Amino acid sequence: MTSPRLQKVYRLLENAGLDGFLFMNRANLRYLCGFTGSSGALLVTPRETVFLTDFRYMIQAHKEVRAQKIVRYRMATEGIVEQVEALGLQRIGFESETLTYDQVLHLRSKSSDACQWIAETSGLHTLRSVKDAEELAAIAGAASLAAAAFEEVLPLLRPGCREREFAFELELAMRRRGAEEKAFDIIVASGCRGALPHGTASDKLIARGDLVTIDFGCRLNGYHSDETVTLAIGTVDPQLRRIYETVLEARHRALDGIRPGVALRDIDALARDYIVAQGYGDYFGHGLGHGLGLEVHEKPTISSLSDAVAEENMVFTVEPGIYLPERGGVRIEDLVCVTAEGCRRLTRLPKDFQILSAA
Ligand code: ZN
Ligand code: ZN
Repeated sequence: MTSPRLQKVYRLLENAGLDGFLFMNRANLRYLCGFTGSSGALLVTPRETVFLTDFRYMIQAHKEVRAQKIVRYRMATEGIVEQVEALGLQRIGFESETLTYDQVLHLRSKSSDACQWIAETSGLHTLRSVKDAEELAAIAGAASLAAAAFEEVLPLLRPGCREREFAFELELAMRRRGAEEKAFDIIVASGCRGALPHGTASDKLIARGDLVTIDFGCRLNGYHSDETVTLAIGTVDPQLRRIYETVLEARHRALDGIRPGVALRDIDALARDYIVAQGYGDYFGHGLGHGLGLEVHEKPTISSLSDAVAEENMVFTVEPGIYLPERGGVRIEDLVCVTAEGCRRLTRLPKDFQILSAA
C-alpha cells in the first residue's frame, strides 16, 4: 500500500512529465521516508523508492527509513547517478530551492546524455502544505509546550529585566519541558525596539510603560510552533494602546474569514484593509502569515502576492502587526489549522490587551 505522502509525489511526476524525482531537502526527506538525519537523498519513481546516504547514517537509516532500497554512497552525486542509470530514468526532477548550483552542475556532468535534470519549484509548494492527523497533533503539541513554558517564566517579565535574560529563561523552560530546540532566535522587543519586526532579544532593560513583543516557538518531534504576544508593562501611551486594538481587530477579521476555498491573498486583505483604514497601512510591511510544520517557514505564504487557496488541514500563522519607528510596535500571532467550517487555533495564549502590573 502506498502512503498518501508518496501519492502526492506521483501526482507531481505526472503533472510535470517526469519519470523520477530526487529529494535532498531535509524536511522533505523526513516527510516522505522518515529519515531524520542531516544528509541523504531519496529517489522516487512510480515503482521504486531508493534512499541513499553515507556511512555515518546507515544504522539510523535502517531504523528510520521507509523505502524499498537503502543504498550507501561515498560521494552523493556518483551514488545518485548510479541509481538513476540503474533505474533507467531520463527526466528527473530536483528541488531547485535546495540543491546548490554546483550540485546540479555535478549531477549533469556525471550523468549520461540521455538524462535530463529538471528544476522544480512550484510543484513542490503543495507537497507539505496540507497536514495529516499525525502532523496536526505534533504541531499542537509543540505549541502547547511553548505556551506552558511561557506561562512559567511570565512572572520574570518586569521592569529591570533584560530582554536577553527573558529570552534565555524562556528557552530554558521550553528545553526543560522536552523541546528539542527553540524554533528560531526568540524575539523580545520592548519599548522603541518594538518597531523592529524581527528585534531579536537585546541587552535593553524592560521598562515601565513599554509594550513588549515576544515571538517564540519550539521544535518537538520535528515539528515547530510559532506564537507572538505583545504585553504592556504597566500603563502605556494611549497611542500604543490604540495600535494594539487595531492589530487585535485586524487579527479577528482575518481569523473570521478563514475557510476552505478562500484565496489566501483575500485573508491577508481582511487584516490589511482594516489596518490601512485606521491609517497605519505604511506600518504593516510584511505578509500576514506563513505555513509551518517541519520547517518554521514553509508554504503557503499568506500575503497579497499569494496565489494559493485555503484548504482543509492547512496550517499557517496569522500575525498582523504595526510598527511605529521611534515609538514601538505590536504584533499578535496565532497558528491556525483550516477546518471544514473555518479555522481552529493551535496556539492558546490570551491575546486581549493585557497589562502586567509593574511590580
Ligand atoms: Zn513568530
Ligand atoms: Zn511567524
